[in-house]
Amino acid sequence: MKSKSLLVLQPDGIPPEGLTLAGQVTLAELDIPEDDRRFAATAAEFQLSVSLVRGGILVQGMIQDTFRCRCDRCLTFFDQPLAVPAVCHFYKPVGHEEIDLTADLREDMLLAFPQRQLCREDCRGLCARCGQNLNVRECGCEGGDAAADAWGALDRLGFEADEASGRES
Ligand SMILES: [Zn+2]
Ligand SMILES: [Zn+2]
Repeated sequence: MKSKSLLVLQPDGIPPEGLTLAGQVTLAELDIPEDDRRFAATAAEFQLSVSLVRGGILVQGMIQDTFRCRCDRCLTFFDQPLAVPAVCHFYKPVGHEEIDLTADLREDMLLAFPQRQLCREDCRGLCARCGQNLNVRECGCEGGDAAADAWGALDRLGFEADEASGRES
């Protein structure tokens, strides 16, 4: 038997005045992948109002969560609050079939993720030569072409981080 998710609506069970759905849902329930680069610190919170409108059902509200993200430039972790403040979906019920909001909320969340994860807009990243986190201090390396060797420095650091955490990759 399917578990009754809060995010599954019974079209017949919506009263004329509508209803409010509020609660928490884990990323696993939303089928949003987590990995070392980004994972949720808590379950996502949602608050949705469900109303009967002409020809269907309107779901509006918000969903939000806070993620632990690894900065793409300096590899340190930071908290990234992520909110979708204007969830808005329209559903046309088919017979008595229940309506699952999960897939649409999943899309909403995924679209809200920034393409690049930066601990701050002007993160200075790592020195391409020695790997020093330049947000913390200058390393004193002579200029050179920083971009050219950036991937090398990232790779070395990534490798060390994996070893330190003792994870199998
Ligand atoms: Zn950074
Ligand atoms: Zn350096």
